[in-house]
Formats: sequence, structure tokens, C-alpha cells
Amino acid sequence: MELVFLGGAREVGRLGLLVESGNERVLLDYGIEVQDTLVPLKPKLPLNAVFLSHCHLDHSGYLPALYTMGYKGNIYATRMTHELAFLLLKDSLNVQRKKDTEPLYLQSHLKEMKMKREFLEINEGIETGNFNVTFRSSGHIPGSVSITAESEGKRLLFTGDIKFIDTKLMKGAYSDFKDIDVLVSESTYSYKNHPDREELEKKLKEIIETTYHNGGISVLPTFAVSRTQELLLILHETGVPVYLDGMGIEVTVKILNHPDSVRNADKLRKAFKAARKIRKNAQRYEAIKEPCAVITTAGMLNGGPVGFYMKKLHKKENCSLILTGYQVEGTVGRTLLDTGRYVAEGLDVKPRMRTEFLDFSAHTDHDHLIEFYKKTSPEKIVLMHGEHTEEFAEELKEMGFNAYAPETGETIKV
Ligand SMILES: [Zn+2]
Ligand SMILES: [Zn+2]
Repeated sequence: MELVFLGGAREVGRLGLLVESGNERVLLDYGIEVQDTLVPLKPKLPLNAVFLSHCHLDHSGYLPALYTMGYKGNIYATRMTHELAFLLLKDSLNVQRKKDTEPLYLQSHLKEMKMKREFLEINEGIETGNFNVTFRSSGHIPGSVSITAESEGKRLLFTGDIKFIDTKLMKGAYSDFKDIDVLVSESTYSYKNHPDREELEKKLKEIIETTYHNGGISVLPTFAVSRTQELLLILHETGVPVYLDGMGIEVTVKILNHPDSVRNADKLRKAFKAARKIRKNAQRYEAIKEPCAVITTAGMLNGGPVGFYMKKLHKKENCSLILTGYQVEGTVGRTLLDTGRYVAEGLDVKPRMRTEFLDFSAHTDHDHLIEFYKKTSPEKIVLMHGEHTEEFAEELKEMGFNAYAPETGETIKV
């Protein structure tokens, strides 16, 4: 079996892993680096099939482009992942069209991808040529999976993005893998541990409640998929009026159509029902008349309705801005965290509202990764999806693991 790293090695974004066995090959994920629209290398064709671990664009963003390269086959993912990926890819194409550069694919390629989608659910497997491929839940976001691929008597596990602990929204990942020869592991947070989840939730509620009692508004810019629903569940426990604005509404409806994709769909349904939905600009003016909390997009403050709230509220000391997701270099959110300045929507200001960053990551962390490697005990660990993979490989080697941090473009034999 050979592994070709098309992207996402020693970097986060544009993930693509080609697995070859003789003359047959499968592609696992094919994403873009969202901020600068970087794309992965082209895979050697033909492919038996393509498998998608979850909808995030760093894993799915370049899939429609496969149909510009002559690929005519299927893309396997859970039903939930396919639905969310289509939504995100449509949105991504709209964003690309607004830029000066040529879009990466056309609407017709997106349609072709939709025609070629095949549903493979969690704990299901299929045989394609030399390969046996199985999906297991990865606890990252609704619909997300880890993928095992067996061929030539070798067993590969590709974690996708993974989280082992339960969160309000998701049940922790499946982790009882046996006889793994090569473990291709995400390593986003190989260099740190996350704060205790319960403490974090308590702190979030405390900020929301304090802001409310001071007559202010909490603004929570966040990703439409997964974090929006996680925040809905937590905020529902506070009794503070919650508004939901932006793409998170449509995404929550889709997730609720797949109740098995989350830990407790009934709770989510209740929280969603209780939240007031904002669909028109006039409703935004109404919402900010009274103290409340607003969950909105975009998660890194680049575009989306959050701009409205920042313009109206940045001068108000009794209001709060709460970032709960990773802020990529070069985004408005990252600039705000690094410099204290909000530079967007024609503004360049130091917001007077309370600004907080809470690390609600959907990825596992350093200690849980190592615990998982010890439990799984693979022959070889290959690190992807991280910015510190080389250091982490060294650390793992010192612990006695056979670990490796490939570069994009490299091929390894297992
Ligand atoms: Zn992800
Ligand atoms: Zn990812």
C-alpha cells in the first residue's frame, strides 16, 4: 500500500490523501485552504472511489474540481456530511465569485458531484476493488467519520478530524480499533491541551448572564456547522433570550433532520425552537433593543451578519463579544485577538465591549491523542492536519512510537 500526501501535511487545510494498492486507488478527502484558497495536488487517475470524512471545506472544498480533471466516479460520505458539504460548497463558490480570481469550479461541477454522491453511514463499510473501507464516528461534528481502508493485508486508519470526549452536541469518537498498521492522524492540537470543558461552559454562561444583567448584548460570531448548535444548547440553559442569525438557522434545520448525527436531538430541538430566528435586517434592529445573546456568522468575523452587530455595539461597554473558535491568521477575528482592533465594515476601532476568547475546540488535544495512540498501538503513526507535526513526531519517537511527519507531495510505502 502506498500513501500519497496531496495536501494537508505539515499544514492545516487542503487535505488530500491518496491511497494506492497496485493499480487501484482511493482518495480520502480533498479540501482547500480556505483563507488563501490554496488547493491540493492532483491525484493520479483513475480512482476507484472518493471518501469524505466530513463537510468542512479544508476536507471537502476541492471535491467538485475532481470533475474538471476527468473523474467520473462516486463520492462516499454520510448523508449528513453530503448535505452539509453541498451547502458549504455552494457558499464557498459564491465567496469565490466575489473575488477577482477565477473560481475553482463551476456550478455544473457542483451539480455533477451531487449526482455522484453515495451514502455510507457510520459503522457501514463497502468493498471497492482491492479496498475494504469502513466508517466510524469521529465525534468532531455532525456526520463526521474516521475511515479505515484495508488492502493487501494492511490496515490503514485515517482519523479525519477527531474528538474523543463528549460535548453538549456530540458523542465522543469511536476508538476501539484493532490491528492498525498505519494510523494517519490529525494533529491540529498536538502542541497543547484544551481547558476543562465544564469550566469553559460555566465561564461562557457567566459572561452571557453578567452581560444580560448589565443590560447588554452578547454577540457570539461562530461557525454555522456544529459550534452554532453547541452554543444553542449551552445558552438555552441560561434563560437569557437567544437570537440566531445567519446560515446557522438552515444548518440547524438540516442537522435536526438527521437526529442520529447528534448526541441529543430532543434537547437541540428545544433549544432551537426557543431561539428567535433573524431572517431580515429589520429584525436585527428589533433584537438589539433589549438585552439578549446573538449567535451569528461568520465565525472569524469575515463577513456575515456579525458586521451589523459590531457596527451597532462596538462602543457599548455593557456588551460582550465572545469568540469560541480558532481564528486563522489574516482574519478579522485574529487581528482583533492580536491587536485589540476591529478592522472591517469600514471601521478600524478598539471595541469598548468586553472581548473574550473561549477555546471550544472540536478537535482532540495533545494528551488525548497520545492516549489514543497507546490504546490503538499502530505499527506506524503518520501525522497530518497540523502545524507542529515534526516536533510532535519527535516527541512520539522518544516515547517509542514509530512516528513520521510527511510533507505535501511525498509518497510513503507501508
Ligand atoms: Zn473539521
Ligand atoms: Zn480539518
